[in-house]
Amino acid sequence: METITFNTSPSFAQQMDNNDRLKKYRDQFYIPKKNDGSDILYFCGNSLGLQPKKVEGYLLQEIEDWKKHGVEGHFHANNAWMPYHEFFTKKLSRLVGAQENEVVVMNTLTTNLHLMMVSFYRPTKKRYKIVIEKSAFPSDKYAMDSQIRFHGYPKDSLIQLSPRKGEEILRIEDIENTIRSNGDEIALIMLGGVNYYTGQFFDLEYITKIGHEIGATVGFDLAHATGNVILKLHEWNIDFAVWCHYKYLNSGPGSIAGAFVHEKHLHDPNIPRFEGWWGHDKATRFLMGDTFQPMPSAESWQLSNAPVFSMTPLLASLELFDEVGMYELNKKSKILTGYM
Ligand SMILES: *Cc1c(COP(=O)(O)O)cnc(C)c1O
Repeated sequence: METITFNTSPSFAQQMDNNDRLKKYRDQFYIPKKNDGSDILYFCGNSLGLQPKKVEGYLLQEIEDWKKHGVEGHFHANNAWMPYHEFFTKKLSRLVGAQENEVVVMNTLTTNLHLMMVSFYRPTKKRYKIVIEKSAFPSDKYAMDSQIRFHGYPKDSLIQLSPRKGEEILRIEDIENTIRSNGDEIALIMLGGVNYYTGQFFDLEYITKIGHEIGATVGFDLAHATGNVILKLHEWNIDFAVWCHYKYLNSGPGSIAGAFVHEKHLHDPNIPRFEGWWGHDKATRFLMGDTFQPMPSAESWQLSNAPVFSMTPLLASLELFDEVGMYELNKKSKILTGYM
């Protein structure tokens, strides 16, 4: 990255804006207005991203196709509904650094977290603990607590990582010490890839490495990482990950979420999984057989057919993200943070 000498003058900021290769993308989003008609300063993209202008047309197309085709829309809609989730695979795998067979869009975030824990939190008498940040998003903490209870293990099975007294963020050496000193008892390490509260971006690759060394599975909640930082989920050997798309990825309130399962788990016939017909091998799904045949991909975790209206806005926004790419976005994000 080129070196930039920052200064706080308005002319410097203006010059940075003028030279910004991504500035035209601002016009691709609706920005809420103040009473005087000027744009508000929107710093809540980490909670709900703004609406891409293309969303409306994309949604109208689906409504029109439903009107026109009825059930035949599954095959004859402009974007056929039957394979609808597949329209995201290429772009999403590039966005999170995964292989195409490792990603899937489905459900909502906390739902996916529970579904992944069915497969990746398999506590035993000796190894049953979960590691999480003390400042984890409440839904994640509730999910962990309730999974521990569901499996019949005591409350203190949750190990919460806290910063040192007087410090805000976690030191990697402290994370490592906690993991190693509880090494025999930890079943799962599940952290927010970027903590929602402190913004700390953990060293996912290193945490995964030490987690595997002590014999645990390692997953991340990437709600604040996907679309925000550069991820290499496959290369980092992460077991599983989940995320939503309505924050940094501008896909609209409560819209469809995502999940990653590392390739090494995809062909394990013994992996426990909650099953539904959309996870069934697509070639034979409509033979309506009575035995589940998983797809050879993360799609095998799907339960239901695609909720099209919840997915359509993501089609529009992923096009923008894919066009720009995470490298360019991340570069700009670092410049902006440096300027702040
Ligand atoms: C935003 C967020 C959630 C929200 O979960 P939903 O199931 O989408 O409502 C959960 N966990 C983290 C870490 C989040 O940042």
